[in-house]
Amino acid sequence: MTPSTSGAAAASAGPTATAMRLEGIHHVTCITGDAPGNVDFYTRVLGLRLVKKTVNQDDPTVYHLFYADEEGSAGADITFFEYPGASRGRAGAGMVHTVTFRVASEDALAFWEERLAAEGIAVTREPGRLRFDDPEGLGLELAASSVADAPLVARHPEIPAELALQGFDGVRAFSSDPERSRRLLEDVLGFSSTGSADWEVRGVARGGLYAYDEPPAGAGVPGAGTVHHVAWASTMEEHEAWQRRVTEAGMHATPVIDRFWFRSVYFREPSGVLFELATLGPGFGIDEDPAHLGESLILPPAFEHLRDRVERVLTPLPDPRAGWAS
Ligand code: ZN
Repeated sequence: MTPSTSGAAAASAGPTATAMRLEGIHHVTCITGDAPGNVDFYTRVLGLRLVKKTVNQDDPTVYHLFYADEEGSAGADITFFEYPGASRGRAGAGMVHTVTFRVASEDALAFWEERLAAEGIAVTREPGRLRFDDPEGLGLELAASSVADAPLVARHPEIPAELALQGFDGVRAFSSDPERSRRLLEDVLGFSSTGSADWEVRGVARGGLYAYDEPPAGAGVPGAGTVHHVAWASTMEEHEAWQRRVTEAGMHATPVIDRFWFRSVYFREPSGVLFELATLGPGFGIDEDPAHLGESLILPPAFEHLRDRVERVLTPLPDPRAGWAS
């Protein structure tokens, strides 16, 4: 049974509700069982920049790899925890199943259709979009977008800037009852409904899309090629207020956690998707020369004492730009 209407008109969101705006997607974090293959696909094939090579702060024996545009911007940042040899998972109810990046045009879609096919990757072209899976089965999509948000582009010798990925357009998740999430999304987080199970969240500078689809039969299985969580972007100033706001709305949110490059609050939304609210700063440049992001293993100060131990267990990874002419 699905309730036919939600309490959309409801809510006493409070006087600050309209003032606070989330700035679209901050990052999307996924799982890989194969860090070398993951680096190859997201940097060499898709043309993103490896902007931080670090460890999972909740399990420092495994990598946390961050790919983004040239500046390591929130809004373009897809990240992976590596569990070496992890078996493939499968998205189910309460999990994100597709990550969509913006490109500028149908010409860009044609470029990517050819480039991915040359890599042996099966692609599906539809008007305005191109779907494919990463090498571990993660659902990806490129959408020709006309939004005015600044394009977030990385340099790559084979990919002209006007055809490159421009940051996130949105994510799609599975839910058998999207109405369960409506009040949180609209009245608490300020998402705007754009369809029966489709929303846009838009701040001053950027926006992103969020949608639910009917889940497949059978439960989801976390593992390689699945999304772990999606993070929405908050200004530095509003972040603690967001933590209070989602807590007051009944979410079991974590306290603010300092991730060094940004601060985070996590909670599971009513359809089961793990959400994070992450700050737009201080950013990846605070502990590394912006010209050399991602080239060496970076540990936040609180983890530096573990360096000898983690360097022994982590799979060595090449600098993806080592072969580039300077
Ligand atoms: Zn995160």
